[in-house]
Amino acid sequence: MTLRSLLPRTTISFATLFALAGACRDFPLAPPEPPELPAAAEALTPPDSYADWWRATEECAGLHGDLSRITWFVVPGRTSFTYGTGQYDGYWWNGVHWILLAGEKVENPLVVRHEMLHELLGRGDHPAEYFQRRCAAIVICNEACREDQ
Ligand SMILES: [Zn+2]
Repeated sequence: MTLRSLLPRTTISFATLFALAGACRDFPLAPPEPPELPAAAEALTPPDSYADWWRATEECAGLHGDLSRITWFVVPGRTSFTYGTGQYDGYWWNGVHWILLAGEKVENPLVVRHEMLHELLGRGDHPAEYFQRRCAAIVICNEACREDQ
């Protein structure tokens, strides 16, 4: 195959890629239907302290992300909440970048930074490298978290 015959094909696939990237801005990768929140969940304005907690999480993880991309929710007056079949202090949704916190955990940096670390990693499991080593001092990692490798 000559370079000449290769070039137009390459140009076309780049154009397709750009078109797809453009579409992503209008239609996020998240499912079209937003996830269903527990009935008692309310919107939460993140406290100012979250900016520092976010920076600390970025630092230990060695990753950078956009804190303002997160939409925060709270289940007021609770130490935990039920979602699906589980009981949680906090919950992170990928794609939509939502974090839901139990009301009593909104000011708990270990819980909040745990959810922030999910957002930075872009995954819902608990890689031991991050949750049990790099960021172990500043995020909570319960039994379920420690089971993940
Ligand atoms: Zn977690």
